[in-house]
Amino acid sequence: SRKIQPSATELITGILAHDKVALSRGITLVESTNLTHLAKANEIISGCLPYANKSVRIGITGVPGVGKSTFIESFGKYLTSLGKKVAVLAIDPSSTISHGSILGDKTRMEELVKDENAYIRPSASGETLGGVARKTRETIILCEAAGFDTIIIETVGVGQSETAVHSMVDFFLLLKISGAGDELQGIKRGIMEMADAVVINKADGDNINKAKLTKTEFNRALHLFPAKKSGWIPTAATCSAITREGIDKVWETISNYFELVKANHYFEEKRKEQNQYWMMETINEQLKSNFYNHADIIKLLEANKKAVANNEISPFAAAMQLLEKYFKK
Ligand code: GDP
Repeated sequence: SRKIQPSATELITGILAHDKVALSRGITLVESTNLTHLAKANEIISGCLPYANKSVRIGITGVPGVGKSTFIESFGKYLTSLGKKVAVLAIDPSSTISHGSILGDKTRMEELVKDENAYIRPSASGETLGGVARKTRETIILCEAAGFDTIIIETVGVGQSETAVHSMVDFFLLLKISGAGDELQGIKRGIMEMADAVVINKADGDNINKAKLTKTEFNRALHLFPAKKSGWIPTAATCSAITREGIDKVWETISNYFELVKANHYFEEKRKEQNQYWMMETINEQLKSNFYNHADIIKLLEANKKAVANNEISPFAAAMQLLEKYFKK
């Protein structure tokens, strides 16, 4: 016998009743590429939207091996011990290329996985980073409607995915470890500029002093950046995700940030801007995928690529031909 799938209304009711099974099913629909699923997903998102927005959204990034999973496990447990409900989502840029995973298996967060006040969802997969990011953004709405008040979004430090995460969170944390004295090299300036805090992880055992030095270096570097629109001055701190020393201080810093930006209204301003950004992103994403998947366009694109390569037509004229064909279809 065929299993009867719950309706959108049933799933909304379940999500609003804080049922994790309904939440997972809703997210699966959001992540689906099946058009019927997407219609249902849109209904669920609309149903959840009035109950979303009441959370803090924190982005965490860092290169593989800095201890993101371990940190999120410790940090997440600390937050649930304070009575918070924590959802952990991920944007894994490698999933779009190789269907592999840099972020790895979230079941590594052994304690948090078992915590009834936590919800962990691995990265969606998809063809483009933009697509994956949009799904994550919609997943945030579902998680918030399901009662999660602290949303953590993890990504790996390889560039574009940071920008995507930055555009959907309120606070952006850069996780680092101390190295051989050249900590500040090899960090893309853009990522430093996005960070609201830098946390030097693995400040334990023989590493404590080195980590403190790195912290000082980062504090000096952070000072050189132009003032932020939020009025917030980013700082560096140390912690150990293993001993959990300093984890409480990280939360204290984040809480101070929220106190500031809620008082000066930057919090709402930024969210409004982010909503507009995501509307534009969705349009761009949809237009592009629709265009490139259109049968006539696929054919003409191949022909025009050759013609352009052979100087038979100018790149501009070739592009205009394609666009005209698409918009007059
Ligand atoms: P990710 O790739 O950024 O998610 O890093 P993981 O959380 O998987 O950690 C990478 C390695 O660093 C693992 O072997 C962890 O046990 C170790 N690690 C993570 N945090 C700490 C820490 O605070 N101190 C020490 N000594 N090791 C840590």
